[in-house]
Amino acid sequence: MVIAKAWVLKKHFDGFPKTSDFDMKTIELPNLKDGGEQKLLLESVFLSVDPYMRPYSRRVMKEGDIMIGTQVARIIESKNPAFAVGAFVVGDKGWRTHFISDGKDLQLLPSNWPESLPKSLALGTVGMPGLTAYFGLLEVCKMKPGETVLVNAAAGAVGSVVGQLAKIGGCKVVGCAGSDDKVAYLKNIGFDEAFNYKTVKSLDEALHKASPDGYDCFFDNVGGEFASVAINQMKKYGRIAVCGAISQYNESVPQKGPYVQIPMIFKELQMEGFIVSRWSNRREEGLQALLKWVIEGKVKCHEQVTEGFENMPMAFIGMLKGENTGKAVVKV
Ligand code: NDP
Repeated sequence: MVIAKAWVLKKHFDGFPKTSDFDMKTIELPNLKDGGEQKLLLESVFLSVDPYMRPYSRRVMKEGDIMIGTQVARIIESKNPAFAVGAFVVGDKGWRTHFISDGKDLQLLPSNWPESLPKSLALGTVGMPGLTAYFGLLEVCKMKPGETVLVNAAAGAVGSVVGQLAKIGGCKVVGCAGSDDKVAYLKNIGFDEAFNYKTVKSLDEALHKASPDGYDCFFDNVGGEFASVAINQMKKYGRIAVCGAISQYNESVPQKGPYVQIPMIFKELQMEGFIVSRWSNRREEGLQALLKWVIEGKVKCHEQVTEGFENMPMAFIGMLKGENTGKAVVKV
């Protein structure tokens, strides 16, 4: 019999999450059965910590629930012939070390996944964040060669892929991030211009200097004040993909304007919010494109790996504070 460890939401977050908002519990897992739903026993190998967990916890969880989240897991016992022992899958089973499944809700890693490629990338560049960059740029920004793309939280899981895909698409890319090391990283992975939004004297001036003619596409991961300033630097008919609003997730009191209508009208902008699951029927297409670019070295990956399941709350809080470069993951 296997005893799983799991992290539960002890108390709904109020403002910035604290380690005391979480509790660890143990769960005794049943033995596998030939019929029914208990066909596979899995162990989490890598777990993801993502910004969405902060706003979604309020929407979909109650206190005492296991934290929502995705993992790369290994099959350690199987009574389902479609899943061999030792195979790796992506699951959406929350913050737990082990779990039971019938296999219906698990995605095997692409069969052409190279042995040398870390499997944790299935939570990042070749997973949900990479797909967010891919579909957000292609379907929402509708970027075209020769255009200028702006992305914020650019050194993170989604942003770092946005910048690199925009370069592959023949665009000029401007990114900003919250430390000088992250800015150096952005230059290193091919961004044309990058700056530290925390230390520039004027965000408006920094955006203007990076692209004096303005921006055709703005991939917004941050929202709030940054977006209010950036919208004024859009070119006429520019497109804004509203991907995330991390500057607002921990606010107890909602931020107020400036409001978007005036620049939206006079620049005739398009602004569209999106959730990556809209394209779940094209998941395979997106994953294969990302995997190919990673294998060819056209998209570089960086991960912030925290060791130890017991450190999940710390890794989550650290990611919200900006401690990660690239995708924040936890190695069990
Ligand atoms: P990241 O890896 O980018 O990690 C979060 C980063 O956000 C931090 O490293 C930090 O970097 C930055 N950040 C934190 N607080 C602020 C703030 N107040 N102002 C500006 N930047 C801040 O996370 P992801 O790439 O996974 O996610 C990026 C965004 O995309 C999030 O808003 C997320 O919710 C959204 N998202 C949306 C999806 C969708 O389907 N719509 C899917 C996946 C993600 P720094 O040091 O630069 O401040």
